This record gives sequence, C-alpha cells and structure tokens, in this order.
Amino acid sequence: MKIYNTLSKRLEEFVPIEEGKITMYVCGPTVYNLIHIGNARPMIVFDTFRRYMTYRGYEVNYVSNFTDVDDKIINAANEEGVEPSEISERYIKECEKDMQGLNILPATTHPKATQEIPEMIEMISTLIDKGYAYAASDGTVYYRTRKFEGYGKLSGKNIDDLESGHRAEKHALKVAGTEDREDDLDFVLWKPKKEGEPYWDSPWCEGRPGWHIECSCMSKKYLGDTIDIHAGGEDLIFPHHENEIAQSEAANGVPFAHYWMHNGFLNINNQKMSKSLGNFFTVRDIAGKYDLQVLRFFMLSAQYRSPLNFSDELMESAKTGLDRIKNAVSNLSDIEKDGADGDMTDAEKDAAAEAEKQKERFNEVMDDDLNTADAISVIFDLVKLANTTAKEGATKAFAKEIREEIEELGGILGLILKVKEETLDADIEKLIEERQQARKEKNFARADEIRDELLAKGIQLKDTREGVKWSRI
Ligand code: AMP
Ligand code: ZN
Repeated sequence: MKIYNTLSKRLEEFVPIEEGKITMYVCGPTVYNLIHIGNARPMIVFDTFRRYMTYRGYEVNYVSNFTDVDDKIINAANEEGVEPSEISERYIKECEKDMQGLNILPATTHPKATQEIPEMIEMISTLIDKGYAYAASDGTVYYRTRKFEGYGKLSGKNIDDLESGHRAEKHALKVAGTEDREDDLDFVLWKPKKEGEPYWDSPWCEGRPGWHIECSCMSKKYLGDTIDIHAGGEDLIFPHHENEIAQSEAANGVPFAHYWMHNGFLNINNQKMSKSLGNFFTVRDIAGKYDLQVLRFFMLSAQYRSPLNFSDELMESAKTGLDRIKNAVSNLSDIEKDGADGDMTDAEKDAAAEAEKQKERFNEVMDDDLNTADAISVIFDLVKLANTTAKEGATKAFAKEIREEIEELGGILGLILKVKEETLDADIEKLIEERQQARKEKNFARADEIRDELLAKGIQLKDTREGVKWSRI
C-alpha cells in the first residue's frame, strides 16, 4: 500500500509499527450544529481506508474524537439558553445518525474531550516540567513554540516567516492584556474560564483546555505514544496538526505519527464549503433528497486528496451511476433465482476469470494511495461484464459469482448494493395480476390502463423475458 505522507511530501510504502496492525487517529468534528457534507468527506474517506485495510487483513484500531468543549459550542448554548453539554450531546447523537446513514463504521473508540481533562492536565504539566510550556500570570498556559526544533516540519512553514505574519495578532493580544506571552508564536494549552463558561480545576487556574492538546492526549491514551497514521482534512495541517506534533513529541520524546493523511476540500463553486462562509449543505439536507449512499458514492468518485466540487448535476450523475450498479446486482439476483442450473458455460467461465482479474485491479488501484475513483471504474467494468454475459440462458452459478464479487468490492467502499426485497400492497399485487390476465386475453387497452394506474401510484412495470418486473419511481 502506498500512502501520500504529508510529513515527507511523497508517496511512501506503508509499513506498520506492528505487523498486521494499524493504529489510526482521525480528528473528528466540533459538535455545535449538524455536520455539513464537507465534514463528511474525511469521515467517508478514512472509513473507506479502514475498511480496505481490514479487508487486506489488518486489525485497525481506529480512534476519532468529538470536540465537545469549544467557543462555538458555548456560543450556541448561550443563544439557546441551555448548558453547553446539552448542545454537544445533542449534536453527537445527530452526528452518529448521519454517520449511520453514510454507512460509516463506529470508531473503535470515540473519545470526547470533556472526558479526558485529567490526561490533558498531566500532559501540560509534563510540558511545563520539560521547559516546553509556561503559565502566564493570569493562569493561561502557553506552548513555547520556538523551543520545539521540528516546528513547521509538517506544514513546511518556516518559523521566521510565521513570526512576521503574526505582528497584527501580537498587537491585538497586547491590547487584550496578555502581554506576558513570551513570543507571539506561542499557542494556548490551557485558558482561564470566562463568566458562564464550563471550567475545570487545574494547577494554573480554573479554566479549560486549548483545542490542540485534546488530540495529543486522546491519541496517546487510546493508541500509544507513536501511532501509524494521523488523519484529517487539509485545513488541519496548520496549525492544528503542527501543534499536535509539537506537543506530543516534546512530551513523549518519540515521533508522534509515522504517516499523515489529509483529504482535499469539498468545494462549492470552487470555494471551500464551510459553516463560516455559509455556503454549506448539511448531511441532513442531502438526506432529504437522496439516499445517503449516493453522497458516499459521490465522495468516493474522486481520489481523496483532490478537491471535489459539489453540484446538483454531479449528485444526479452519482445517483445514476449507483443505480446502474444496483440494477446489475438486482438482475444478477433474479438470474440466481430463475437462471439455468448446472455448471457455467465456457463463455461464462472466461468472464468469471476476467472478473477475478478485475479484483486484482481493484486492489492495485486502492493500493495506490486509495484511488477510489479508479476502484469505482473497476466496479463499472464488472457491471458491463455482467450486463453483456449474464443474458438469456445464463447460469445461476455465474450470476452468483459476479453478484458476490460486485457486492464484495462495493462493500469495501462501504456501499450497500443489495437491493432490498420489497413487498407490495395487496391491491397493487392484484392490479399487476389483473394486467397479466388482460394481456393474456389480448385486452391491451385494459392492460395499458392498469399500467398507467400503477404509474400514478409510483410503480413502474417492465415486461421482461423472465416475466413482469416492477420498480418504484
Ligand atoms: P471541524 O468540525 O471544522 O473541526 O471539521 C471536522 C473535519 O472536517 C476536519 O477534518 C476538517 O478538516 C474537515 N472539513 C471541514 N470542512 C471541510 C471541507 N469543506 N472539505 C473537506 N473536509 C472538511
Ligand atoms: Zn485533532
């Protein structure tokens, strides 16, 4: 497996710390609102990575947090006049619903920042003891950024360039009265409470942790000091991930993560989709229009590092594409019921061998830094093979083999392709029977009338060699 590592800025062969195992941390959402589809991109992409690596035989320990203490949560709570915990608990539940709809597996552990405060206080104390952090007179604890030699190694930023970029901020901070920060590059590890905010006791002041420290602590607690993979959206490279490295490596004295994976942005009109720009759709908005499988399919139609533009047209074409695969699976299932018994024909054996090769191709493209776009084309090739080979006289054995393969590869991408066996209301069943009878009696006028009647009820009929088939429209 080759992974593009943001740390080395090149494709690298993946070598786990422990054979057959992967420790992976993915930065999760801040829970103050329904998640938008940009937030869903890393969830879908890294869930697919996890599923694929599991399929390749790895045991994946997958940790993804919920940031449940943050200014945005406090603001939302103040607006509604409720406790911040009510906001965060509500939106964790809503996020879990969306994840289920998107067929994202629950993480091995989903830690919450507010449950890990003692660990954060401990790491901050270690950083102070080692000289990497200091408490200012108001109780704010800062990380001494210049002390960490590798600062900038992930984002490629030069510390002196950063310094000049921070002048305006430094001025603002002086006005705010925190001038005892030693250097304007120093970032916050712990901050004093403000009136009405949630707080915890600490050796420095009653207050709450900064954002970056939570991921360093949760990753250490649930996965260890050095992990295989740390992941998130590319906006997190700086400062969040850069700061996590500075904290973890200074505190633990060992490398933090061997591989850093970052997904590209989900854009709208070529601009990053984000809450602050107001140019977003929530996953819930999309669920009102489409099966969320369509959204998952859409996200995987691009390689995860490429920017991906969202539009109605692209969602429609994702729907058409997914339907094509599902229809092929449904046709193959029908042949499994009604097709020929016995061994595969020679032509089918050739096609089955070809399908086996496609499976290897699927692995090859997925091994190339998770190229899900090409993996989907492999599935389309199998669909083409199914549509051209599994025709009249096809055997049950062949249909089963190809269907299982399409479902297996789709399943690795987290796509549910099985068509649910639906039952129809008795009155609709009766109308279909009546139409069959009318056709038998060559009463085509009545047959057409019934067909239109069913169409008005949202049931479309198709006359096939295997008999009449119906679908919902
Ligand atoms: P946040 O709640 O803003 O911390 O974001 C949670 C996750 O979603 C992070 O990994 C972000 O990088 C990611 N994310 C936010 N917006 C987008 C976007 N438009 N495209 C892709 N990823 C995003
Ligand atoms: Zn994080």
